[in-house]
Amino acid sequence: MGLVIAVDGPGGAGKGTICRIVSKKFGYAYLDTGLLYRAVAAKLIECGGEVTKDKAVTFASAFHVDDLGVATLRAPNVSELASEIAIIPEVRDKLLNFQINFSKDPRGVILDGRDIGVKVCPTADLKIFLTASLEVRAKRRWVDLKVINPEENFETVKEKLRKRDQRDINRALSPLIKAEDALLIDTSELTIDASVEIFVEAINDILKKCKKIKTIML
Ligand code: C5P
Repeated sequence: MGLVIAVDGPGGAGKGTICRIVSKKFGYAYLDTGLLYRAVAAKLIECGGEVTKDKAVTFASAFHVDDLGVATLRAPNVSELASEIAIIPEVRDKLLNFQINFSKDPRGVILDGRDIGVKVCPTADLKIFLTASLEVRAKRRWVDLKVINPEENFETVKEKLRKRDQRDINRALSPLIKAEDALLIDTSELTIDASVEIFVEAINDILKKCKKIKTIML
């Protein structure tokens, strides 16, 4: 039975890149939970018309794993709407079961998002809060977005990220928060390799402890 690992943090902290590398290393299943909210947002955009709470809840209820394969999930308008509909308690509720079921994969799992350590997997074996300064996160996003649109403006990207942070941190239900028992990794001054190394060390420490407990119990 592998570990359950909860990773939280703001957009652009490097969660996706780092979790993908670490999950491959350990053969764990990986879920980027932001994609669930993005999938609901993408459907709302696709269906057109006014965005209403009812429509958002209906799409969240009908969520299917295949929705995670939609090509537009990373588009900036989807990011924006995802964080707007993420404040609706019923939407969060409808998407919760999928995440909890995913966390039961016996291979071991890494889930990343905003409320994993506190709400989705409060008893996770390891909790990590990955963050970086707004400036650094905005620069990373800007570099990514410039590949698609060379005219992309850095200050606009930074302002949108700041607003999304504020919405995620200040919402009443399941706000972005570091669980008390989470290990803080600030990637502002770290390379991807260095961040991965800290993460891997934390996993190995827990695995060693589990081994010791097993040996004592035998
Ligand atoms: O992580 P990502 O930027 O893809 O998430 C998009 C939005 O989905 C976030 O801004 C946040 O509002 C929401 N989200 C959330 N809870 C999660 C994951 C994402 O509210 N566990």
